[in-house]
Amino acid sequence: MTGISSMPPDVILEILVLLSDFATLSAAIRTCKRLYETFQFRSLLITHAVLRNAAGPALVDAERLDYYGCVHSLPEEGHLESAEWKLTRDAAARMERRGRDVLFLENFFSLRYKDRTSLSSRLDAIEELRFHRAIYRYWLCYEILQYDALREQDSDFEDDDEDEDEDNYQDIHPDDLGLNKEQRRARDALCDALVTSSSEELFELVEICTFLKDTEIWHGRAVAPTSPIQPVPYWTTVNPEKLVASLQTRQMRTDQYDSSGQHELVSNAARKLLRAHKIPHERVSQARPKAILTSVSGADDRCSRCHAICGTDLFGSTNMYLLSGILPFSEQLALLPGLLHRNRDEVRLLDQYVRNHGNPIPVDVRIRQMMELEPDGDDADYEHWSKDEWYCLDCIKTLLRLRFMLWWREEKQKSGVTLQDDCWYGYNCRTMTHKSSHALKLNHLCKPTRGDAPNVTPANNAPVGTT
Ligand SMILES: [Zn+2]
Ligand SMILES: [Zn+2]
Repeated sequence: MTGISSMPPDVILEILVLLSDFATLSAAIRTCKRLYETFQFRSLLITHAVLRNAAGPALVDAERLDYYGCVHSLPEEGHLESAEWKLTRDAAARMERRGRDVLFLENFFSLRYKDRTSLSSRLDAIEELRFHRAIYRYWLCYEILQYDALREQDSDFEDDDEDEDEDNYQDIHPDDLGLNKEQRRARDALCDALVTSSSEELFELVEICTFLKDTEIWHGRAVAPTSPIQPVPYWTTVNPEKLVASLQTRQMRTDQYDSSGQHELVSNAARKLLRAHKIPHERVSQARPKAILTSVSGADDRCSRCHAICGTDLFGSTNMYLLSGILPFSEQLALLPGLLHRNRDEVRLLDQYVRNHGNPIPVDVRIRQMMELEPDGDDADYEHWSKDEWYCLDCIKTLLRLRFMLWWREEKQKSGVTLQDDCWYGYNCRTMTHKSSHALKLNHLCKPTRGDAPNVTPANNAPVGTT
């Protein structure tokens, strides 16, 4: 640290305010006396600067959320900027933690909607600010609803005479359709919290509601490998913190769907305020307003195989893993040729293999292996695939139709299984779908040599297999 000892205090200050988080700051001031002295002298300025680096560009929204979490009311205007408000170590740690969660979501958002070629966010400074403030406002709404629900439980005995009068109004406002009294009250509490938001910020919030909901649905599909996909009700709560934890651990959190109405209430509140801002109805009712991104990288990019313009919906090495929630395993199975997906014994073996004792083989790995196959003879498909190219979902499905069965046959052989004799009816064999002894006795991962021609439509033309 001799270099630092001779640095002017201004330079040391410049270094400290650039540190990305409090762990680094703490380590730095413990290792060097000069750094420690500078920190002591300008601790408030340095702590706030590091907090800004750790919590992201929407610091005021992050602070508002933290304030609400502590006292269950919103700060007076200007309070967070005043000397009355002191940043405590605990508050800084909480905001830093939330900042990491928000960054995680930003990276995911960026990969899906901004730049499919990068796992870390490519949002520009303005887009990042919009994303962060919207997430923090959503999160604040989530906390308000949680607190409101708790209060609601405590005050169940209250008389609702006043509200009954309200229900007699002849013109129910469109914002209130489908909401009961409690939900309307909770929604109005959100409107109070959001009342200072501009129209632009409210549109960002509506977009974030849709993004979080879509991400939750994507995750639900990705973690249900072969079981039928469980429908995720539109109105379920999205808890940003739990969503991030689920995405990181790839586990379904059973307590994620423990409440009702809240997602809908956040966007409902934002839409109600937008109507109050006299925004035209058509704009307010948009499901996904494009409010966060100014531009999208590769928006006009084409599929390498079919040349369709698919932009961010193209899949390549960085984002192929997203297929786990877009084309879940149960839907991949349906792309096996003929009647194979109805061969329960084969599907069970394949499922066990892919699950791999709790350490599943990810879809992007399987897709890459299928691309690298070099089928010849009867299996030749004369297709060229490359992991360095970008493909649309339809072409990925074509790859699975052509090579999923071949891949599985090769994987079986590689793992030491000796394939039985081919059944004459191959993947079109009907007997394998209802007779386990037959399904297990012969190999069906092959083209039919008898019966109908290969690739018949199973539903209409499946041959009657014999044993
Ligand atoms: Zn294509
Ligand atoms: Zn058969």
